[in-house]
Amino acid sequence: MIKCKLCFYPLSSLDSYFCYDCLTRLPYITTHCESCGLPTNTQLDMCGHCQKQPFAFDHAFSPFEYKPPIQALIHQFKANQLANLKPLQAWLFSAYYHHFRHRKITGLIAIPSSRRSMIRRGHAPAQTLAQLLSQRTHIPVLPNVLSKRWLVPNQKQQTKRSRQTAHQFKFHIERLHAENQLPHRQRNSNQDHRILLIDDVMTTGGSANEAAKHLKAAGVHQVDLLTIARTPMNH
Ligand SMILES: [Zn+2]
Ligand SMILES: [Zn+2]
Repeated sequence: MIKCKLCFYPLSSLDSYFCYDCLTRLPYITTHCESCGLPTNTQLDMCGHCQKQPFAFDHAFSPFEYKPPIQALIHQFKANQLANLKPLQAWLFSAYYHHFRHRKITGLIAIPSSRRSMIRRGHAPAQTLAQLLSQRTHIPVLPNVLSKRWLVPNQKQQTKRSRQTAHQFKFHIERLHAENQLPHRQRNSNQDHRILLIDDVMTTGGSANEAAKHLKAAGVHQVDLLTIARTPMNH
């Protein structure tokens, strides 16, 4: 028996993943900030937040707001309990096609998870998403470029609270320019990379911002971000 991936209602068609009711409830983002993807009432080139304090990445987009029923689906996916990844792949590809195709992306990079969460979940969700998109676009996933390293906080300079809330990890750029990362003709310098960062959910955008800062410092001139969903929270 085929069931709706979201509410488990029995489906009659073998081709569909969701029941009619769930499909009509999907929280698509229709109007948004062109720069950071924040859902807005009207289509904007740049929201107030981007005007005040722009992110280090150039262009971000998410097809959905992080709301039910997408929220439940992402939870299942992150816990590695989603048997069929086809809907996620279709959404990623559609978002790529409509928002990033003209950006001439040369490589996909997943926002790294911590080792501990990878062991707990049995996979790195962002890496899985990057691979799903790569299968459809044939854009390579660049492995081992970004890694998350724990920072040893300077105890004297930080209060207990700031130690807990400050970024406790730092991204490291490794092997961006390694031999096997790009086809030969594109192998000139980091500047020739046009990177699309991939993550499951954008909340504050902090992790992607850090990653983009590091990539830009390494000379990459275009860094974009694609996530399945984003919280309406401001940055
Ligand atoms: Zn349903
Ligand atoms: Zn914005």
